[in-house]
Amino acid sequence: MISTAFEYNRATSLDDALAKLRATNGQGKFIAGGHSLVPLMKLRLSEPKTLIDIARIPGLSGIRKKDATIEIGAVTVHHDVATSALLQQACPLLAEAAASIGDPQVRNRGTLGGSLAHADPSADYPAAMLALDADIHLRGPKGSRVVKAHDFFRGLFTVDLGADEIIVGVQFNPVRSAAYAKLAQRASHFAIVGVAAALEVKGGTIQSARIGVTGASSHATRLTDVEKALAGKPLSMESIEAAARTAGANLEDLNADIHASQDYRRAMIPVFTERALARALARAQ
Ligand SMILES: Cc1cc2nc3c(=O)[nH]c(=O)nc-3n(C[C@H](O)[C@H](O)[C@H](O)COP(=O)(O)OP(=O)(O)OC[C@H]3O[C@@H](n4cnc5c(N)ncnc54)[C@H](O)[C@@H]3O)c2cc1C
Repeated sequence: MISTAFEYNRATSLDDALAKLRATNGQGKFIAGGHSLVPLMKLRLSEPKTLIDIARIPGLSGIRKKDATIEIGAVTVHHDVATSALLQQACPLLAEAAASIGDPQVRNRGTLGGSLAHADPSADYPAAMLALDADIHLRGPKGSRVVKAHDFFRGLFTVDLGADEIIVGVQFNPVRSAAYAKLAQRASHFAIVGVAAALEVKGGTIQSARIGVTGASSHATRLTDVEKALAGKPLSMESIEAAARTAGANLEDLNADIHASQDYRRAMIPVFTERALARALARAQ
């Protein structure tokens, strides 16, 4: 289908983007890569009167070291995350999650901020943000605020982001001993089940673990039972196999669609949890 008619504006700064959005009186939307919004507009599930293009705002893209942390601007495209030498070395989990998104066209246009704002239940970044315990930086008319990833994803396509706010970027402590493993839907590569796992290891012992799962239910969530089961255990495949065995058993309302039933997803969560943890373990040694 063809979308309803809309006006198109390009924002030149964050303040300009927020002012242009306010001027639409609730009838406008930001557009970054357009790879989630445009399909919705073509289906007429979204009918903004004005699109405000934020993709070329100076300073809103890029991957930077800031003290011990890494910052990524909201309009950084998936390709740049996937091919970042800094991320590949210091935080390979995120680079591999980005590399697994869609196809080259999607990775060259789609953005980190757009993916987080849209919060598709099968999107890859949300699981990675949970495993990295990332801070999500927002700006709105009342100023800036920071939301932890585990508070950000709230429900189906629902996040802690006001209609008048913009995602500026994310910030996190890089974790080398971390990995992403997913069962991809063959055509789109969206996650049927995707698991991001990060381990904190000291002297051969797992101090703590953070595990995010996507594709399984209405929104990405932490596998806290597995995290608890791993804490304090020796860094070994035996620990991982034991902890992953019941991964997702407590998750309610698993997704079911033409790609996979609830039972199939439930069976795949432990498999991909173990795979992500095994690769994180290999990086920790
Ligand atoms: C064929 C295909 C395959 C795909 N496969 C995958 C996949 O395997 N894994 C995966 O994770 N994703 C996949 N996607 C989705 C893709 O990653 C999108 O790029 C992403 O979900 C949205 O990013 P965008 O920049 O395109 O956002 P847009 O489409 O421009 O915007 C999406 C929504 O976010 C809002 N928004 C955008 N940026 C901001 C911001 N900075 N602050 C506040 N709101 C903002 C917009 O107003 C809109 O509501 C696929 C998409 C397609 C078309």
